[in-house]
Amino acid sequence: MEKILKKASLQEWVAKLDSHDVYMPAFVDDNWNYVVIDDAKAAGLDFAKTIHSPKNIVFPQREVMFTFEQEKGGAPVIAQTIPDPRPFVVFGVRSCDAKGLTLTDIVFSKEYEDPYYWARRNKGVFVGLSCNEPPDRTCFCVSTGGSPHGEDGLDIQMTELADSYYVKSFTDKGKRIVELGGSLFSAAAAKDKNELEKVHAASMTHQQRPINNLAGAPAKLKDMFTAPFWDEKSKACIQCGICTFLCPTCHCFDMNDEVSSSAPLKGERVRTWDTCQFPDFTMHSSGHNPRPDNASRLRQRVCHKFQYFFENHGVHQCTGCGRCVAKCPVGIDIVAAVNGANDYAE
Ligand code: SF4
Ligand code: SF4
Repeated sequence: MEKILKKASLQEWVAKLDSHDVYMPAFVDDNWNYVVIDDAKAAGLDFAKTIHSPKNIVFPQREVMFTFEQEKGGAPVIAQTIPDPRPFVVFGVRSCDAKGLTLTDIVFSKEYEDPYYWARRNKGVFVGLSCNEPPDRTCFCVSTGGSPHGEDGLDIQMTELADSYYVKSFTDKGKRIVELGGSLFSAAAAKDKNELEKVHAASMTHQQRPINNLAGAPAKLKDMFTAPFWDEKSKACIQCGICTFLCPTCHCFDMNDEVSSSAPLKGERVRTWDTCQFPDFTMHSSGHNPRPDNASRLRQRVCHKFQYFFENHGVHQCTGCGRCVAKCPVGIDIVAAVNGANDYAE
């Protein structure tokens, strides 16, 4: 379904979505991020890249999995805490982040269907906004095989034209959200489609961060597992984990029991994000750590995204959003790492 919405009608459309929570990009605490708005007048799509991707909405940083309680001498009582959110719509999803959701879907469904993730994921409608210009100089979606107007993972994609949005809906959930807007939408005409195609073609030409030989990266990375290259590239890393915590595809987590009372025993099992960039991530209880240094940890991050995930699932696990490049406090750059590996000769 392809429709036109006047820019001036966006807030009126959002006002009709009161059966859903509506997330919009908002500037909060010095960053753009997704927040639930309680007034459609706050709806707007003039924003830069959000600090977090919508991954956080379906896979929060901290999540209770179950509660436990045991009276002295009694049997333990365990209550699973599967989330049950209201249906929600996320506006302003960039194509790189929507593609990130499709990769996280693989992780949380291929070997084990994660009920916590899917309880949220299935309630969401993801409304994209094409990037007519890259919102940040670190964007490289085109270099990872994506596009600033890619549709993977979206229910609806909006593209800004002169005074309107071109609105394509792909899924039943997406079509329903457009239908809720009723007469605010008009049919897309041939001239609108022409304008859309021009805008999309132009958007492909703006990014300047190429990855050389993406197709050859898995084999090359495999060959250089023990190369000193990783020492050279990783020396400056301070193991802060920002690169992975902001990544739309990183998904590792740890689980801990948080005990609130010992008599009677009461508490919660909680999962929280974890990262392969932390020194103790792979620490064994014996004290042995198979990734004991910066080199092995950076290698893990780069190889997971450009070799292992590709070998396992046929797709690279990086969508080119550029957050890890923009926010690394010491300037470690995954594009430079992959290009350096591709050019490396021992
Ligand atoms: S990498 Fe940048 S230009 Fe590409 S989809 Fe993401 S935000 Fe848009
Ligand atoms: S953001 Fe930079 S310094 Fe921090 S863990 Fe990642 S590579 Fe290391």
